[in-house]
Amino acid sequence: MDAANLLADADRCVKCGLCLPHCPTYRLSRNEAESPRGRIALAQGLVGGQLQASATLAAHIDSCLSCRACEAVCPAKVPYGRIADATRALLVTPRRSRATRLLAALLDCAPARALLRTGLWLLQSLLGAPSGSPRLPRWLRYRPAPQRLRAVPAPASGKVGLLVGCVGDVLERSVLADALRVLESLGIEAAVPPSQGCCGALNQHAGLAAEAKRQAARNALAFAGCETVLALASGCGASLRDLGAADDEAPALSPKVRDLCGFLADRLDASPIPLRPLPLRVAIHSACTQSNVFAAGGAIRRLLAQIPQLELLDLASDSGCCGAAGTGFLSAPDQADRLLAPKLDAAAALKPQLIVSANIGCALHLAAGLRGRGLEVEVLHPLSLLARALAPAAPR
Ligand code: SF4
Ligand code: SF4
Repeated sequence: MDAANLLADADRCVKCGLCLPHCPTYRLSRNEAESPRGRIALAQGLVGGQLQASATLAAHIDSCLSCRACEAVCPAKVPYGRIADATRALLVTPRRSRATRLLAALLDCAPARALLRTGLWLLQSLLGAPSGSPRLPRWLRYRPAPQRLRAVPAPASGKVGLLVGCVGDVLERSVLADALRVLESLGIEAAVPPSQGCCGALNQHAGLAAEAKRQAARNALAFAGCETVLALASGCGASLRDLGAADDEAPALSPKVRDLCGFLADRLDASPIPLRPLPLRVAIHSACTQSNVFAAGGAIRRLLAQIPQLELLDLASDSGCCGAAGTGFLSAPDQADRLLAPKLDAAAALKPQLIVSANIGCALHLAAGLRGRGLEVEVLHPLSLLARALAPAAPR
């Protein structure tokens, strides 16, 4: 986006401040520069030449979680996510973007993902399943659940396409198998086109717009034959929707993208299927992208309400973002931990047996926080829980 378009977006803000109480970073800091309105003013100053790019200005923009809670409540419909990404693109430098470029290149490379998957599998085999302890070092808390090494068989083309995502390909192969099983039970033959790749979120939120656009074009071509496109992680789905406008290189992807849980809840409402009772207490964490970008905050509850005897609880949804925020839990761990605290307090009070989240970053961050508090609660994708309620599948 050029500076004129950024300014046109920013100038839609009437500075009413209605978004401020909904902004997690403003709630933590009470600093105007850490609020949506303040960051928009910083963007306007930067584009207008009244402010120079500086480390302080960049830190205020970078601390934004891209949770889009502000966008969801703004009466002027200010496209805050677009403004934040365009401002980051103005501030990007080779030095500031080095780590993101490296990580994005690594995750975009299939052999590198296979190496990561194997490394994690070895780690699990050597150390066993991670258990909770308040004395666990921070980095060890993030150890993901055991990995599936075998590829998941799936058609390459079909009317409904499934985006696995780069991190999903490393950490969520079992979720992919569960999702395909649920879709099949509903009579939907879903395709996983092999030419798909990273959704582009990592680059886009680091201000690397050209790289993100290239990744979006690749996905638009990979899913060109699909009528509906779903993503395992709601964060990836949001990026597909944001970045998938038609251009010279690729057809439009945005209009086809639906929230996975919302899509399946609609299908299950229309054509219910037999599900086994699961007498469990389950707390729902709705990711910001699911609530604020897809406006599907109730989708997980609608979907899982189909399972008999499941007791559904709310994991402090009024506290907003859990702090995972893409790679925010790595780059700003203190902020991420402070934002996670209300969710962990809720988990300690509600004592659920399971927590469900449809976003891999939130699931990792929640699981790490629970381990840090010594709370033994499994965190899983809603479709993995739904798959447990289906009749047992033949081993593949
Ligand atoms: S972003 Fe929207 S809600 Fe926030 S100050 Fe501007 S106009 Fe008001
Ligand atoms: S996207 Fe989230 S963190 Fe960023 S300004 Fe909006 S509400 Fe605040």
